[in-house]
Amino acid sequence: MHISVLGAGTMGHGIAQVSAMAGHEVTMRDIEDEYVQNGLDAIERNLQGGVDRDKVTPAEMAETLDRISGTTSLKDAVTGADLVVEAVPEDMELKQDTVSEVESLVGDDTIIASNTSSLSVTEIMSALDDPGRGIGLHFFNPVHIMALVEVVVAEQTDTDTLEFATEYVEGIDKTVVEVGDSPGFASSRLGVALGVEAMRMVQEGVASPRDIDASMELGYNHPMGPVELGDVVGLDVRLGILEYLREELGERFRPPQILKRKVRAGKLGKKTGEGFYVWEDGEIVGVSEDVMSR
Ligand code: NAD
Repeated sequence: MHISVLGAGTMGHGIAQVSAMAGHEVTMRDIEDEYVQNGLDAIERNLQGGVDRDKVTPAEMAETLDRISGTTSLKDAVTGADLVVEAVPEDMELKQDTVSEVESLVGDDTIIASNTSSLSVTEIMSALDDPGRGIGLHFFNPVHIMALVEVVVAEQTDTDTLEFATEYVEGIDKTVVEVGDSPGFASSRLGVALGVEAMRMVQEGVASPRDIDASMELGYNHPMGPVELGDVVGLDVRLGILEYLREELGERFRPPQILKRKVRAGKLGKKTGEGFYVWEDGEIVGVSEDVMSR
């Protein structure tokens, strides 16, 4: 198949890589040559890492790279594509404009997917003349490692589109979870529910961040506790999702004061060196002083 990926950033390059590894011809589009090249370089680095760890053979790496081409031309990227996956920034207007422009350039049978992590797929695809061809494919970061793809069925998604998308995801060796187009889908809604309760527990002094995380890691076998995960994702990102889920689903997603204070203070987690934890060179080196009530 010919897959077209729009956006060569964190998610786009990963989607391009796993599609090409599964044998598809891939065209990856970004708006600047430099961004396209960054995406191609990231794919090469990932594959080289796979070769170094004996997960990928040098021949597979070479064949995969051969199947991927980069471009800044939307027309070149989508012409002849069976599936177009948009992974452009999380902005409704941009996504609607993107899918609508894609539709004007492709044939009637091309499926158009969005990798949105929180926006309504139904609303994005309402920009299409034929919204039945639209669907959500929610990949997880890093795409070449994470086994899950949420297949988000919008109000208008046709059965054929769902079947096509499911087969594509299974074909790239990922596990499909089928979800309705509801805010936060399945994964973010549950993940954020756990994260927000953990923050409230820190705020109330129920336990320290380390002990809350240890209880989920050791007691429930989570690979990472909910407080640390918030720091890794970014507290500003967490706050944005919570505000959206509160608006859509109600007060149980109300962001706690401690989170708002952190974000206002620019303590956004791993990326700024401090959130609930203190970070150095990507590692936790301590607990933030303003949460050390216990
Ligand atoms: P990113 O900023 O890393 O990459 C987005 C890329 O899109 C940038 O390189 C940008 O130059 C490019 N772009 C902007 N306008 C474009 C256009 N019109 N055509 C083609 N490319 C364009 O962002 P990301 O983290 O890869 O996120 C992309 C999408 O994936 C968002 O909708 C996001 O919510 C979703 N998502 C992100 C994650 C994550 O963990 N980062 C996980 C799941 C889903």
